[in-house]
Amino acid sequence: MNDSERTDANAEQDLDLSPTKALFCGDIIGSSFWPFPQFADEEKELLGMVLDSVDRFLEDKQNDFRRWDEAGQQPEEFIQGLRDLGLFGLIIPEEHGGIGLSNAGYSRVLQQSSRHDSSASLTIGAHSSIGMKGLLLFGTDAQKEKYLPRLASGDLIAAFCLTEAGSGSDAASIKTKATSNPDGGWTLNGEKIWITNGGIADFYTVFARTDSDAGKISAFIVERDLPGVSTGLKEDKLGIRASSTTTVSFADVKLSAEHLLGEEGKGFKVAMSILNNGRTGLGGGAVGGIKACIALASKQATERKQFGRSIAEFGLIKKKIAEMTVDCFAAESAVRMVSHYIDKGYTDYSAEAAISKVFASEAMFRAANESLQIAAGTGFMKELPYERIMRDSRILTIFEGTSEILRLFIALSGMKCASELLQELKSATDDIFNNPIKGFGLLSDYAGRRITQLTSLGQDRIIAAVPDVLRDDALVFEKYTLELARLTDVLLRRHGKSIVEKQFALQRAADVVIDLFVGLSVLSRVSSMTPDDSEQYQQAVSIAHIFSQRAKRRMNRNLRAMLRNEDESAKSLADFIFDRESYPWDVL
Ligand SMILES: Cc1cc2nc3c(=O)[nH]c(=O)nc-3n(C[C@H](O)[C@H](O)[C@H](O)COP(=O)(O)OP(=O)(O)OC[C@H]3O[C@@H](n4cnc5c(N)ncnc54)[C@H](O)[C@@H]3O)c2cc1C
Repeated sequence: MNDSERTDANAEQDLDLSPTKALFCGDIIGSSFWPFPQFADEEKELLGMVLDSVDRFLEDKQNDFRRWDEAGQQPEEFIQGLRDLGLFGLIIPEEHGGIGLSNAGYSRVLQQSSRHDSSASLTIGAHSSIGMKGLLLFGTDAQKEKYLPRLASGDLIAAFCLTEAGSGSDAASIKTKATSNPDGGWTLNGEKIWITNGGIADFYTVFARTDSDAGKISAFIVERDLPGVSTGLKEDKLGIRASSTTTVSFADVKLSAEHLLGEEGKGFKVAMSILNNGRTGLGGGAVGGIKACIALASKQATERKQFGRSIAEFGLIKKKIAEMTVDCFAAESAVRMVSHYIDKGYTDYSAEAAISKVFASEAMFRAANESLQIAAGTGFMKELPYERIMRDSRILTIFEGTSEILRLFIALSGMKCASELLQELKSATDDIFNNPIKGFGLLSDYAGRRITQLTSLGQDRIIAAVPDVLRDDALVFEKYTLELARLTDVLLRRHGKSIVEKQFALQRAADVVIDLFVGLSVLSRVSSMTPDDSEQYQQAVSIAHIFSQRAKRRMNRNLRAMLRNEDESAKSLADFIFDRESYPWDVL
């Protein structure tokens, strides 16, 4: 496909429709998945240069990374090196002194830096993905002019300050307070904890409850050199130890009206927009980490001999490498798809961003664990990076939204969309005699969907978009999209609003839609490859087959378990244990 055809196909995308939410309604929006996004030639060239310089700077530093992990700190010369390479300005537009990469380009750079070291990646990532992203998304021209050039050069390093001791996943419950002053400014008081880049940053995006407008949350830009701003000691952590994590405290910090970021009272939206937009940075980092694990473990497996043979000859070692490779290809496809949505201007990509983060971060942890298992005793020793990679990757399913919270979010936002369709149906039926045309339109839509579900014949058939070799795989995703919609329907009718409390069911729904979204991204990517006899193409097709067959079994299991399960017994068992806070069945 040439560029103009690609552009035409893209032009048909409806930027207001969330592809994931549509899946909950039984629709695969083909134009959101096909064609698979490609980098424009100019960006490819620029990106190539950035990736080379990242490699050159980081590749001979494995011993340093190990020392800095032990010391729990990156030296200032290293951070200066990151500055010199322009890595703090990756997503800042050129007119403000940055490199001006797209979201996809940025995510690709984090992938490259993460192949070398997670802490190094995080110093860059926390700055761009979340630290100063609010300024890019919501800042006024004056705020951008004031801060962006220094943020691009790394003279100012940025951090994102949301979490507090009593407020983690429940971010809306923060207590940090900004009291309005008669001069239009604010006085800020409170303490944030576990802030990445906290100790090295000079620019903080801070979320606080404002005393006006019913105590809603607002976002502020706070500079380190303002009186009353202080940071605590570095945290002693399990992983990403060289990355700075500290408390950031505010004691009667005087802010002018110009420090407000976005509208007063809209800070929660600012925070969520930053996190949604930044998730492809973390996803890209996870993909880079998996690639590092594949390289390390495959070398180790071919070199290590046991029972007179290379361990790479053993089926159980092959299985691990194959799974890591499928996971990597799948995570890379999903992260690339989401960053394309962001660059393309989709208005709602929150569920997709959450899916890519959950999938990539969990795949990364599996890869870290399995690559260490392949290296076994050697992997357990500090001389080699396996154990550090494993410790470093543990954070990925915790920060920027835990896997649990994101799964609930994915399922609930999809189901909300489906329930709105049901509501519309209800009001259409109520309304049908007053406004038959409107009512009929909605009814025929709904009836069409039901018929589609019953006959498994979707209107937006994706098998038309895939090469023959992927037709059976496409049929899997078509079938299970309809199954998801059917079960969503059943769950909504059965539980109504109390679906919010049915977390086991929500998790299963999220897992089904994760398999659908990631699988469709994989199919799209393989469809975009030029078919030939090369082993690389044949193996990519094989990855699509492996993913779709395994996804089919997982989805089948999840959907069946929605109707028949032991959820209530499991909850009761957990309550029994909570009452005792211990395991009561010692054999002796
Ligand atoms: C190294 C590190 C760096 C960090 N960097 C930053 C940063 O730069 N800026 C920042 O603002 N924050 C940062 N954080 C904070 C991070 O975002 C939070 O740790 C995360 O949001 C989870 O909050 P919590 O740890 O308080 O867990 P909690 O919210 O207490 O959750 C505990 C457990 O309960 C689960 N849970 C919570 N609520 C529900 C629910 N409703 N249903 C089901 N399960 C639930 C969670 O998934 C989790 O498993 C960082 C944390 C760490 C460890």
